[in-house]
Amino acid sequence: QNLSVTDLLSSLDISTSAPNAGAYDGQWFGNGEQIQSFNPSNGKPLATITQASDADTQRVLKAAKAASKVWRNVPAPERGRVMRLIRNAIDDKVDELGMLITLEMGKIVTEGRGEVVEFIDVADYAVGLSRSIGGTVVPSERKKHFMTEVCHPLGVIGVISAFNFPIAVFGWNFSLALITGNASIWKPSETTPLCALATTKIITRVLEAEGYPGALCGLMIGGGSVGAALVESKEVDLVSFTGSEARGKLVGAECAMRFKQSLLELGGNNAAIVLPDANQDLALRSILFAALGTAGQRCTTTRRLLVHSSIADTFIASLVKAFGSATKRMGAPEKKDTLIGPLHSKLAFEGYSNAIEQAKKEGGKILFGGEKWTEVQDELKGGNWVIPAMIRYDTFEGIEIVRKETFAPILHITTFETLEEAIEINNSVDQGLSSALYTQDMNNVFQWIGPEGSDCGRLLYDRSTSGAEIGGRFGGNKSTGSGRESGGDSWKQYCRWHTATINWSNEVGMAQGVVFE
Ligand code: NAD
Repeated sequence: QNLSVTDLLSSLDISTSAPNAGAYDGQWFGNGEQIQSFNPSNGKPLATITQASDADTQRVLKAAKAASKVWRNVPAPERGRVMRLIRNAIDDKVDELGMLITLEMGKIVTEGRGEVVEFIDVADYAVGLSRSIGGTVVPSERKKHFMTEVCHPLGVIGVISAFNFPIAVFGWNFSLALITGNASIWKPSETTPLCALATTKIITRVLEAEGYPGALCGLMIGGGSVGAALVESKEVDLVSFTGSEARGKLVGAECAMRFKQSLLELGGNNAAIVLPDANQDLALRSILFAALGTAGQRCTTTRRLLVHSSIADTFIASLVKAFGSATKRMGAPEKKDTLIGPLHSKLAFEGYSNAIEQAKKEGGKILFGGEKWTEVQDELKGGNWVIPAMIRYDTFEGIEIVRKETFAPILHITTFETLEEAIEINNSVDQGLSSALYTQDMNNVFQWIGPEGSDCGRLLYDRSTSGAEIGGRFGGNKSTGSGRESGGDSWKQYCRWHTATINWSNEVGMAQGVVFE
């Protein structure tokens, strides 16, 4: 924490004095345009990167395919051994990588470090899987027949990631892809290239030291056109895309046109529901984190709050107070006491301002914030600072702004009378990622997780919409996308599956009693 920015970057092998090569295929190179990475809290440049050109992307794609052909023959427990070494190498740099996320993305120190810990946790999980994954033996209906489901690596996994989790999302995908026998190619957000550079350098050093191709962890830094090249390439077998609904829709369609598999992890519009019997203190603290953590820039951020009408005025007044206290701790994200950092980009700042204007036009009453932060210290003047907003509506019915995800700290609030009504409001939007219920009645909880409950991929009870554990499958429904990442049986998506039937009877027997002789 006491390192200067230059020392921190140099400890992660990133140059601040010369452009850093932005493509890796076993060697570092780059022939595209140069871009700068900025610190969002003060607008100052951190380092320069030479992006991948069109020809560079083709080179990375080919090398990954070749590396995947080597790796697919390596036994899974050996893949697990290498994964463990990578895990340890990431762990050795957990504080430096965490601080780099803070500097480049803008999240506070504990969240930056926590993101790297997520990678380490998934890596541990993947090491365990490397000794347990496999198919099943299926009872055959024919005599002296053996039927089994066999899984093999897909080949090359393309990972396109968003700015808000600049290391963990790649970590989730890379770890499962590696132990299931695949090569990965990472196309990170063009606004968080340094996190990708540092992580790739750590991983590939281990791969090479163990005598495996570094191209198992290819990298191509660039914007949408580099992402599109990855999606369109014949070398890529599965695209794991994390980002906005608008982009994800295009990526999903492109993949479908090519019969290519895709995992889509897109925007959320997450609601929290507070019933009159809730533990209100727990609900308040939990919702505060979910609404303000990462300055409202998590896919799982609580964006809609539904409070039972009988407790609405007191609960909302307490939340306004809590927003006030938390906002006093807004500032440089690398400082220990800070709770709320900046928005990541100028674009996010515009999104925030436009959403506030629209909310006002649609009859929303601003209860807190809703404007640019002007009392910002001199050294942070170049950053993207806003005061988190709370906006109350008589009803969400007919209000357009609450139907979409604005990637900024804005909490839209309304009231309801019955749990059924609240669930209907929860489910009424296109997105379906995360949802939280606060109550003390277990019947309500089972209704919440039942077939007529929340339609989201994540169902929380007395827990905030944000803050997933890696053990459970992570992902959303409806326009949030398809597919699951991280825990559970997500690993199966990185494999191609076969059903193998072996006849050792020396007879031609038909299934379903068919006779053909
Ligand atoms: P974005 O859609 O702007 O960019 C995401 C990635 O897509 C970037 O790497 C970008 O360069 C790339 N890209 C852009 N055009 C492309 C194209 N034509 N083809 C291929 N790739 C292309 O998203 P963002 O602003 O970086 O991230 C914020 C969004 O991500 C939010 O909507 C958030 O909810 C979502 N997100 C979702 C999850 C989840 O798990 N559901 C997790 C994190 C973030």
